[in-house]
Amino acid sequence: MPRQLHVDAIRQAVAELLVEANYCIGDDVLDALRQAAEEEQSPLGRDILAQLVANYELARQERVPACQDTGLTIVFLAIGQDVHLVGGDLRQAVDAGVREGSKTGFLRNSVVGDPLLRRNTGDNGPAVLHIDIIPGDRVHVTVACKGFGSENKSRLAMLTPADGIEGVKRFVVETVERAGAQACPPVIVGVGIGGSFELAARLSKQAVIRPITQRHPRPDIRALEEELLEEINRLGIGPQGLGGIKTALAVNIEVYPTHIAGLPVAVNIGCHSNRHRDMWL
Ligand code: SF4
Repeated sequence: MPRQLHVDAIRQAVAELLVEANYCIGDDVLDALRQAAEEEQSPLGRDILAQLVANYELARQERVPACQDTGLTIVFLAIGQDVHLVGGDLRQAVDAGVREGSKTGFLRNSVVGDPLLRRNTGDNGPAVLHIDIIPGDRVHVTVACKGFGSENKSRLAMLTPADGIEGVKRFVVETVERAGAQACPPVIVGVGIGGSFELAARLSKQAVIRPITQRHPRPDIRALEEELLEEINRLGIGPQGLGGIKTALAVNIEVYPTHIAGLPVAVNIGCHSNRHRDMWL
């Protein structure tokens, strides 16, 4: 017998997670910024990192948005196959949660209703919604707020198998280099390798919201994450692009099987205000 879950629980979860994500930078990122502030060699970079930490601590204490760009809301729902959603339309519930959280959290309205006509929706809706079906009778809700200073610097390439791992490395490092100061470094680099055109992009988004303390379980991918982080931090871009050794806090990679003729790779850049929250229902 499937477990019944009212869509209102999802609306409420989205609204709460959206506010929490905007007010409270994750401990993983905040700790990494504190450590970076100690390790940065550039005095200006150390000063910037200390200011970022102070800003994020203040946002948590005062319960205000950590950054003026409260972002486009990305919602991942992993729905157990033994869940029966009742009480209304799921999509409408998610968008209502975004609107409610944006209003109660005093979040800046950052969404236009049409990409060409560009009129602000005035309520931050709709969300970008990704749905997966998983085993079990629970629902996992993840809400990420994606500022576009960093989102705009993300890229995707359909490399060939001949480009190989060296081609992947070149593309990732070049993407961070081209982003420069505009992605608000130190950044979190989410990389999706494999799948199809659209799956690579989605994998990179999942990678960028993975806790930065969590390395990939596969030793070769973990080694690639570490190698890329070192290489990116040798670029010298530094905090806010003013020079230094802390250009990125982490490189998170996700992989998926792909076609014999292709090697898709996507890089989603998360700024130092990489905001996301999740919960189980
Ligand atoms: S890129 Fe991130 S830190 Fe920079 S303005 Fe946008 S949301 Fe804020």
